[in-house]
Amino acid sequence: MESAEQTGGTAAAVPTGPFLAGRRALVTGAASGIGRACAVAFAKAGAHVYVVDRAAEAAKTVAEETGGTAYVVDLSEPEAVDQLPDDADIVVNNAGIQHVAPIHEFPVESFALIQRVMVEAPFRIVRRSLPHMYAKEWGRIVNISSVHGLRASPFKSAYVTAKHALEGFSKVAALEGAPHGVTSNCINPGYVRTPLVENQVAAQAAAHRIPAGDVIGKIMLDRTAIKRLIEPEEVAAAALYLCGPHTGYITGASLPLDGGWSAH
Ligand code: NAD
Repeated sequence: MESAEQTGGTAAAVPTGPFLAGRRALVTGAASGIGRACAVAFAKAGAHVYVVDRAAEAAKTVAEETGGTAYVVDLSEPEAVDQLPDDADIVVNNAGIQHVAPIHEFPVESFALIQRVMVEAPFRIVRRSLPHMYAKEWGRIVNISSVHGLRASPFKSAYVTAKHALEGFSKVAALEGAPHGVTSNCINPGYVRTPLVENQVAAQAAAHRIPAGDVIGKIMLDRTAIKRLIEPEEVAAAALYLCGPHTGYITGASLPLDGGWSAH
C-alpha cells in the first residue's frame, strides 16, 4: 500500500492565513470524519463554523475545538433544517450514511432515509441559505459527493442514487447562483479513512461473500490506481480550496479525489 507522503497526500497547495475571517460556514455531519476535518480546516482559515450533526456530544466537542456553534439536529427529519441558522456564507453538505445490500433485499425504509439525509436535506439547507448569500453577492456551496456520484458499485443502490442526485442538484445551484456570486461544486472522494468506511467492512464482506480482512484490498482499493485510503484532511483541503481566493471561476464542477478510480 502506498503512503500519503509518496502520493503527495498532504494539505499543501491551499491558501494560508485567515482568508475566511468574517465568513460563517455551516458544515453538516461535522461531528466525525470528513465533516469534522472540514470544521477544523474552515475554523483555521478564520470562519465561524456551524457544527451540524445528530451526534450531540461529538458535535459539542468539535464546536469547542473550533470555536464554533453546535446545532444538534437529525437531518432525516425534514423540519430539522428550519432550526438551523439561515445566514451561512458557506454550506458544506456532508452528512451521510450507507447501507449495503442487494437491490432485491434492500430495505425500502433505508432507501428513503438515505435520500432524505443526502438529497432532501442538502436541498433544504441550500434553499434556506441562498437568500443570505444572494444579498451578500457571495456564497460557496460544497457538496461532499463521492466517486459513487460518478460511478456505480453493486449493493449500494440507495447511496449511488443519492450521490448522483446530489451531483444534479449541485449543477442547478451553480447555474442559478452564478449571477449572484455563488458557486456550487461537488467533491468526489474514493474510500476515505473514516468511521463510515470502517463500519461497512463487515457488511461488504457479507455482500461479496469474502473475508472481512480482504475488503479494503479487494473491494475498496480494487479500482483505484493509488493503493491507499484517502485521509479526511485531504478532502477538507479540497473543500477549503473551493472556498478560497483563487477558485471563484470553478462552479458546477465535480472534483474527483479518487486515486484514479474514475480514470477507468
Ligand atoms: P462519518 O460516519 O465519519 O460521519 C458522518 C457524520 O454524519 C456523522 O457525524 C453522523 O452523525 C452524521 N450524520 C449522519 N446522519 C445524520 C443525520 N440524519 N442528521 C445529522 N447528522 C447525521 O462519515 P464520513 O466518511 O466522514 O462521510 C461524510 C460524507 O462523505 C458522506 O456524505 C459520505 O457519503 C461522503 N463520502 C465518504 C467516503 C468514505 O469513504 N468515507 C467516500 C466518499 C464520500
